[in-house]
Amino acid sequence: MNVHKIVIPTPYAIGDVNAFLVKGDALTLFDVGPKTTEAYEALKWGIHSAGYEMSDIEQVVLTHHHPDHAGWVDAFPDAAVLGHEYVDHWMRKTNEFIVYRNEFYRSNLRLQAVPEEYIEQIVKVRGEMELFGTTPLTQFINDGDEIPGHPGLIAYYTPGHAQSHLIFVEENSRVAIGGDLLLDKVASNPLVEPPVDLSNVRPKSLLQYHNSLILLQNLQLRKIFAGHGNDIENINDLISLRLEKDELRAKQVLNILSTPKTVFEVTKELYPSIYKKQLGLTLSKTIGHLDYLEKEEKVKKHLEGEIYVYYC
Ligand SMILES: [Zn+2]
Repeated sequence: MNVHKIVIPTPYAIGDVNAFLVKGDALTLFDVGPKTTEAYEALKWGIHSAGYEMSDIEQVVLTHHHPDHAGWVDAFPDAAVLGHEYVDHWMRKTNEFIVYRNEFYRSNLRLQAVPEEYIEQIVKVRGEMELFGTTPLTQFINDGDEIPGHPGLIAYYTPGHAQSHLIFVEENSRVAIGGDLLLDKVASNPLVEPPVDLSNVRPKSLLQYHNSLILLQNLQLRKIFAGHGNDIENINDLISLRLEKDELRAKQVLNILSTPKTVFEVTKELYPSIYKKQLGLTLSKTIGHLDYLEKEEKVKKHLEGEIYVYYC
């Protein structure tokens, strides 16, 4: 695969994001950075340094809908825009979808015993939409699809970090564009998001994420071009490390549940120094560990009024 990496700054804690320009039968840009002026400059400079103009880009392919990856689709008005169907909701941002999304979070956060004053804060922060792109997709990509203009480059649906997450594997060379499925320095957070079918059933993001990691392990890849940080070659070691860390966290959660607790109470004990600043994220992590322990039949939950209480 003829890959040119473009490093793009973001205003997020994660730091820089990577876009990848790939020359095949088509000239395709995988991910585009957040919609900031700094990111636009980096993108333009990166495309120039590969010997092209912005207007030469024929296709934009998105690994997932998060704004650090999907913002500047708007800079390529003439290009085809491809991604998972779910990305399209985040591009169009219809009133109906935004109302659905907000209600999804509100009802879930109430089940988790999050105090009302925090709920609107989380709904609003997650709703900061200005760094998102606004260009609807021209084509949806499904699991197993070949990317147009790139024979042998196959999409794999890998949800967990995002409900729209895809990776793109070149079957012959065993090289992939990996989005945020696996990162070298940090764990990919299994964020709670409304489901792809727009029902009110919360996806179990950490369980999905673990399944996606196992899929990745079985793909036996040689190299991943990751969405943040360095390219990854020690793939299976890194996957084992991520799974072991989650196992340790789950054990911690089990200890915390020596007495019955709500998700909010577990989160406060598990992440005492950061839960206030990063409540949405830490709640997502706690729920992930609880889903895992439930699946392992180590914890149970029941409704007390309109709140879930977890116990061993
Ligand atoms: Zn990312």
